[in-house]
Amino acid sequence: MSDFDVFSNRWEITGKITLVTPLRIGGGQNAGAYSLSQSPVLISYDAHTQTAQPYIPGSSLKGVLRSTMERIIRTLNEKKSCIAVGERRAVNNVLCGKSDCVPCSIFGSQKSGASIRVQDAHLCDDVEFGNVLDERPHCATLYDKRSDRYEMQMVRRGNFKVPKTILRMEEVVATNTSFDLNINIDNVNDRDIGLLMLMLEEFNHKRCHLGGGVSRGHGFADIGDLKVIKKTIDSDNKLFFNVLEEQCDIDKLRNYAKDYLRSIDDGNEINRRDFDIYYRAYQTKGMSGHLVVKYKITTLKPFQMPGVDESTVTNYGVPVIPGSTIKGFLRHKLIKDGVVASIIDEIFGSVKGNYQHRSRLLVSDAYPDENFAGRDMIPENTTLTMWVVFDNMEANEVNLIKNVLTSRQVITGKRIAGVRKGKPADNNEVEFSAVTPERFNISKYLKES
Ligand SMILES: [Zn+2]
Repeated sequence: MSDFDVFSNRWEITGKITLVTPLRIGGGQNAGAYSLSQSPVLISYDAHTQTAQPYIPGSSLKGVLRSTMERIIRTLNEKKSCIAVGERRAVNNVLCGKSDCVPCSIFGSQKSGASIRVQDAHLCDDVEFGNVLDERPHCATLYDKRSDRYEMQMVRRGNFKVPKTILRMEEVVATNTSFDLNINIDNVNDRDIGLLMLMLEEFNHKRCHLGGGVSRGHGFADIGDLKVIKKTIDSDNKLFFNVLEEQCDIDKLRNYAKDYLRSIDDGNEINRRDFDIYYRAYQTKGMSGHLVVKYKITTLKPFQMPGVDESTVTNYGVPVIPGSTIKGFLRHKLIKDGVVASIIDEIFGSVKGNYQHRSRLLVSDAYPDENFAGRDMIPENTTLTMWVVFDNMEANEVNLIKNVLTSRQVITGKRIAGVRKGKPADNNEVEFSAVTPERFNISKYLKES
């Protein structure tokens, strides 16, 4: 445990967080003062500039860094990790606070304070407020479960029966918005700073995410411009209180951390699929476990998906295919193809029954590689990029999704896609191709950088 009455060193970590997908941190009622949205994002009022700005609370960032560190340590050696998630956390919701617990010594526990202070991340200076908020429709199709099958709920509209849906709006911070990262830590060693560097890097691998709506691809971010300054007191100089500053070599710090992680690795695969470990992390072959796959999408016909006050959903004016739309399409497709409800729940999550957990499948928005603002549709032959995360899945589940994404598909309801009796879709036909799949594998992870 570190003593806070003795100053031995202070580390200052700075960097830049750039959103790769929209960020959704709900602001509750107070944020309503600054927004007309039904469901506004978290906003802080800056008296100095007299503006209200979205920000990322330090507590959110700290929470993600801690759970990311716990997840990697627990995958390597359950005895070296601390808090648990899900059921086990409900049983014993206390942090251990032991002096040899690395997460507790960095992030704190009920027994001792944290060494780390993660500051609220505010918009970078060059970002103009007013250019960063978007209103997003979120449409969910309702299903009934009969024995082990899902059936779409239908409602009568005029002479037709149409799927029953719920539409709600929510505000998000637009993609490409950047925030300043500022972290201070006192009295820790190179290994601990190295571990934090590794955890920050996990954002770039798209294995950890910020805020809510993660299963529809919100909260993916890149962290760049990382800089670590170490401050120590010059002990040779007895007359003056002199603070020495040095900029640290981040690769070296990461390697200290990897030395530590290698030293605790017990080589045991943990045989459960909770999100507090990486499933099948020791396997070197196959498609099970934790995978992040970047996909390219090509529109074979123009794509349109009506948004709030816009003829197609955009990210601050640039048309996109929303992650929630693609995910909804995948779920619907598997149900239509006869996949049983228990597997659907395993993949897409469920709040009822025996399969209560969040979605294992995270699907981000698909962004045109060339930004073209001001269009009301995505023209045909446009290439877009999206991220799909398969979180702790079995190979057969991964294959179900992968197989859908290897053939041409028409996305969204038939009406929007312009399908009429016996006539192919006028709109929204796309083709997917997977690039750079990355599976979480221990030996690859522990290699020196
Ligand atoms: Zn602990």
